[in-house]
Amino acid sequence: MPELPEVETVRRTLLEPIVGQTLIGVDVFYAKMIRPLDAESFSKILIGQTIHAIDRLGKYLIFKLEDVNLLVHLRMEGKFFIKPSDALPDTHEHIAFYFASGASLRYHDVRKFGTMTLRSETSLYDTPPLSRLGLEVTHPTVNAGWLHKRLNTRRAIKVALLDQTILLGLGNIYVDETLFCAKINPNTQANMLTLTQCETLINCAKRILDKAIALGGTSIRTYLNSLGISGKFQNKLTVHLRQGEPCLNCQTSLVKTKVGGRGTYYCPTCQPFNTEGVSTMSTIIGLTGGIATGKSTVSAMFKDMGIPVIDTDAIAHDALSPNAETYRILIDTLSEAILAPDKTINRNTLGKMLFNDPVVRKQVNEIIHPYVRQVVDTELTRLKALNHPFIVVDVPLLFETNFHTICDVTVFVYAKQYQQIERMMARDHIDEAYAKQKLKAQLPLSKKRTLADYVIDNSQSIIQTKKAFQKLMASLRKEDEDGY
Ligand SMILES: [Zn+2]
Repeated sequence: MPELPEVETVRRTLLEPIVGQTLIGVDVFYAKMIRPLDAESFSKILIGQTIHAIDRLGKYLIFKLEDVNLLVHLRMEGKFFIKPSDALPDTHEHIAFYFASGASLRYHDVRKFGTMTLRSETSLYDTPPLSRLGLEVTHPTVNAGWLHKRLNTRRAIKVALLDQTILLGLGNIYVDETLFCAKINPNTQANMLTLTQCETLINCAKRILDKAIALGGTSIRTYLNSLGISGKFQNKLTVHLRQGEPCLNCQTSLVKTKVGGRGTYYCPTCQPFNTEGVSTMSTIIGLTGGIATGKSTVSAMFKDMGIPVIDTDAIAHDALSPNAETYRILIDTLSEAILAPDKTINRNTLGKMLFNDPVVRKQVNEIIHPYVRQVVDTELTRLKALNHPFIVVDVPLLFETNFHTICDVTVFVYAKQYQQIERMMARDHIDEAYAKQKLKAQLPLSKKRTLADYVIDNSQSIIQTKKAFQKLMASLRKEDEDGY
């Protein structure tokens, strides 16, 4: 896949043949590429206009015409070729631009993933896709303090650097190279980086991108830049694709692993995992279910195996106790009507208020949720430092509250609806109508089921549930081995 240096190389190679050319015709052979416009409107807007510059932001090429911008993303395999206008189109040419000079620009894309979009000058940076992009490392605003602030995430630094809404233009190859240069382990939690490390990261990224651009980018696999120019940076790669080869600094054998699902290369000696920081070796299991589907049964099974379980319901319960700072805030927000005679918060009264009033629900969530999150974070840090291979976070509304984003895998406990209703009636002493109403207020089980990585069916016998649990543990252990 072309990354920023390759796209910059494409831009530079197109300048000379394209800038100053006036369009007299456009052929669109594959209209999906220019959606939402149709071929006719697309051509109509472009014909008669002269290309006066080609800019780039991240991996987007911006062809600047008189009163419109043509935004191109090459995705996996997009390339441009210059040919005489009368040359017959190749099978993989999807769009042809014909110039008054008799030359033409052909867009070639074997995978057809590339996109072309038209944007007016005024909306160019204020509308997607460009409005969604972060800043390039060379942008004057980017410095150690800026990056440090933007890296306020628990994700691995490798994943955070690939996120184009933070820093723009570092793809998989260049993130590996940058982290090696900065001597930072790719699994390091992004918010554990020091200001000095952020500064080093920026300097390394700049140096590596500069060098790659000077060498015409990196040509690996099938990607060859437009006009047949191939990059030379692949000869300068220090870690990427070099697993098993000696580190250029220390001779240690380089390692390939997966971080955030992407192939990741690093030197275990030069980029040691910071044990003073938070270990990411523990697998965090998010456990959830519908109301009364039997989540606590499964939670008990984890505990029986010695796996620590963080119970967010219990934490939320603590938030209501008179010792918690959230107690006072809740009373100030909802009035003393939520208090029982003994000055504790009446859970039933609060529960009914939450259920009946979405505004109150939102207010209370905004008080309780950050409290729960903070306690969970502290508890996770403590448990990870003890090197537990698995830690369970038990969250009734795992997906609704976005708690799943801090989990490595999610497990959903399933039961049939009539079983939920029966259990709720028996457990909470409520009638059938109210039980049904409560179920309706939640995300449907079928939806949660598709969001979860694993499903434990608790609709049959307890023996069946136990079997499903053992199967789950077996695959989690296997995943753990494969992943590291
Ligand atoms: Zn090394």
